[in-house]
Amino acid sequence: MIEHSQIPIESASSESDLAGRRPTWAEIDLDAVAANFRAVRERVGAGVGVMAVVKADAYGHGAAVCARRLSAEWFGVALPEEGAELRRVGITEPVLCLEGFWEGQAELCLRERLTPVVYRREAAEALDAAAQTAGVVADVHVKIDTGMNRLGVRDEDAAEFAAVMREFKHLRVDGLMTHFAAADDAGQTCFTEEQLARFQAAQAAFHFHGHQPRFTHLANSATLFAYPAAHGNLVRPGGVLYGLWRDVLQPSSQTPSLHPVMSLRSRISHLKSVRTGETLGYGCTFTATRPTLVATLPIGYHDGYPRALSNRGRVIVRGQFAPIVGRISMDLTLVDVTGIHGVEVGDVATLIGTDGDQSISAEDLAQLAGTISYEITCGISRRVPRMSPKSF
Ligand SMILES: *Cc1c(COP(=O)(O)O)cnc(C)c1O
Repeated sequence: MIEHSQIPIESASSESDLAGRRPTWAEIDLDAVAANFRAVRERVGAGVGVMAVVKADAYGHGAAVCARRLSAEWFGVALPEEGAELRRVGITEPVLCLEGFWEGQAELCLRERLTPVVYRREAAEALDAAAQTAGVVADVHVKIDTGMNRLGVRDEDAAEFAAVMREFKHLRVDGLMTHFAAADDAGQTCFTEEQLARFQAAQAAFHFHGHQPRFTHLANSATLFAYPAAHGNLVRPGGVLYGLWRDVLQPSSQTPSLHPVMSLRSRISHLKSVRTGETLGYGCTFTATRPTLVATLPIGYHDGYPRALSNRGRVIVRGQFAPIVGRISMDLTLVDVTGIHGVEVGDVATLIGTDGDQSISAEDLAQLAGTISYEITCGISRRVPRMSPKSF
């Protein structure tokens, strides 16, 4: 059984444990984040910078603590608000706003020195005007849509947009980027190579129109592991930094030396024996076929533990798997602990992570729940405190 003393990683010295709180928490292993970052560095080699993507609160792992632990050249966020939050916690490196900015946020970008992605004339105009007022030249990165069909200047319009960008005297195109749709799928290699070729043509058009972006970046986690030719001089990994890779990288990728970062744990809050024929939980979806020892865990779907795992998932108690029985509810989950020797109220239940010889990954949960690991870790809600895994 695991003995933990958890330290809230946001305030490691002020609060020493979960005393006075519900015993449900996520452990964030920042040493693992640092090791994963080193693995990325080794993979891309010298001469290629790393933009650590910490959008969506670092995929649920905590953007502030993760960013502070990473010696990345750049950080990537989705929203300018997320970039401003990084500034607030002392991050001074360049920050790219991957989705651009919203109306009324041009000044925020300038004030916080956030570099926005630009792909629409209107946004470029707004930022140019704000930069003129502020008496500065603002850097932007232009995104080329080479086949994702989500964000970006369509590649056939790249030359026209390159010309348009020349009109703005207070903007400098300092980066050119694209995003791959299926780099995780070896069966889509032709599509990925076509995206790369379209990007290179767009890049030539920007050069032709006199732009000299210092940064060229295309590669998310899957791309940087599978397509060295698409590294550019800056890569944009997210998932692999958080040790998520089984449903992120091409299956052919050699098992990379990546370490899971998030563990999710709770403690048994109630134990009861139920008789054969009794049902468990909402909808009576589980019927005991033998005398069953049932443990209640104070965690539910509001915490981000997917309801789709009802009667399907499992947790680890005292180093043994305990299946989920009945429906997961908003705040509570039931597990079958029959046969787990010595089980008692207060025992740790591991929902993601390792206990003894057994492990459950976020990828395992995702597969059972019909989603991807990113949605699992992003979904662990604010109600679950993030702790340091240090045990002593
Ligand atoms: C989220 C994101 C990434 C990171 O993707 P991973 O699969 O997590 O490595 C890279 N680039 C862009 C544009 C993104 O939106």
